[in-house]
Amino acid sequence: MSATDGPESGARELNVNRRMLIDGKLIDTDRTFVSTNPATAMAIGHAPDAGLAEAHAAIAAARRAFDTTRWARDVELRIRCLGQLHQALLDHLEDLRELTIAEVGATRTLTHGPQLEGPIEIVKYYRDVLGDYSFAEGLGSKEIRGVLHHRWVEREPAGVVAAIIAYNYPNQLALAKLAPALAAGCTVILKGAPDTPLITLALGEIIANHTDIPPGVVNVLSSSDVAVGRELAMHPDVDLVTFTGSTPVGRHVMAAASQTVKRVFLELGGKSAVIMLDDADFVSAAQFAAFSIVTHAGQGCALTSRLLVPRAHHDQIVELVAANFAKVCYGDPSNRKTYMGPLISERQRDKVDAMVQRAVEAGATLVTGGTRAGPGFFYTPTLLTDVAADSEIAQEEVFGPVLAVIAFDDDDDAVRIANNSIYGLAGAVFSGDQGRAVALARRIKSGSFSINGGNYFQPDSPFGGFKQSGVGREMGVAGLEEFLERRTFATVVG
Ligand code: NAD
Repeated sequence: MSATDGPESGARELNVNRRMLIDGKLIDTDRTFVSTNPATAMAIGHAPDAGLAEAHAAIAAARRAFDTTRWARDVELRIRCLGQLHQALLDHLEDLRELTIAEVGATRTLTHGPQLEGPIEIVKYYRDVLGDYSFAEGLGSKEIRGVLHHRWVEREPAGVVAAIIAYNYPNQLALAKLAPALAAGCTVILKGAPDTPLITLALGEIIANHTDIPPGVVNVLSSSDVAVGRELAMHPDVDLVTFTGSTPVGRHVMAAASQTVKRVFLELGGKSAVIMLDDADFVSAAQFAAFSIVTHAGQGCALTSRLLVPRAHHDQIVELVAANFAKVCYGDPSNRKTYMGPLISERQRDKVDAMVQRAVEAGATLVTGGTRAGPGFFYTPTLLTDVAADSEIAQEEVFGPVLAVIAFDDDDDAVRIANNSIYGLAGAVFSGDQGRAVALARRIKSGSFSINGGNYFQPDSPFGGFKQSGVGREMGVAGLEEFLERRTFATVVG
């Protein structure tokens, strides 16, 4: 484990005067709140602090744009606007990259993938899907008591969408909601996370300044007040809530939305397991297990935070994982050599550290890590063994670079431990026998699964959770259809 040097010399000065987008206008508020660079613990700017008045203005704008403009019905306009948005994001790529690194603590390398460039391609993906998508399908004719009935189904946009996102991959989360919602013909109120408001506001500014997306179709809010998210979930003029965040908050969103029986789409927490079977290549599997949990300092919903190993090979695998943790370069995320950046805040670091301390008090062995590093909110890659399968560290989401090792006796035992969770988001298995690996993967209740290192996270691949990891699927054609309502028509023939 080593700390990398200072920032890349090419790092640009940031434009942090971001504004909210409401009804086509970029607006400030009197109240603001600070956004902090988690790698330095220094403020990088201020975001407007929306209250209920701004939330209501955004909802009213989205409602008007949905009900009274041609947006919901004009597929060609939507294809054109999604193409413009894709191009505008590419045109502003380097500014977005520097802001993502500074505000989110994302490493430069990750901005070439899921922290920025990957999400931008989601916009292109939905523009292309829209070009081919059929909004109607025939059900054929049916004779009922001697009369022929002709039936068909039409798909239409669900309406006004409230999109509420987490802090950890803000570009991914925003664009994986915005792009399919816009493709479907919905209008949107997007609320960024309080820890990473500026990058989400930057998307709104690009929409306002560089696309023909009509006023009110996209509204972007920043707020330090949870009352704004709550209001979006409750308001009768919002038809659908798409939420990415923790399971406890997801339960609140679902309850709030139930007052008006809204459609609810939830991407929530995870506690995924990586399982090494006894015939696996332990060297490459240990590398995967170590480097995936430290990706974005463990702040990823689908990261494998439990490592399940055959009891007979436990010590050998633990040694291999610890050796990989020792190679993790952490430090300034703008430095190209850095693999792991900081946690988002001191609050998050305190939470992670407290969970590690409680795990040790409960009987786990701290093999490596468990320390803070400065000047920002860094936490060293942490390996815990002797973890009881029902203990807090094995059951609760940590959202930090912490890997809990649990031994199993045979494949059935591994499946039982992996499924012993309220979550069901993702997972991974390593085996020298592909058939055995696939058979085991099918027995784990999770929305996505990696076999021998396979990558399931792409714009065309539905992503989402079983159990308390969520409801619905994001990305892929399934992600578009989350934002469509089906209507069935029938007419008497002849
Ligand atoms: P969080 O649940 O604390 O906050 C998420 C969002 O909800 C924020 O915008 C917040 O302001 C808002 N919010 C808070 N209280 C609210 C309420 N009562 N009503 C409406 N909105 C409210 O999550 P976080 O700490 O920002 O992010 C980390 C969590 O997100 C982790 O649990 C992680 O697993 C999850 N996550 C899931 C996915 C996925 O795709 N399944 C992806 C990324 C993150």
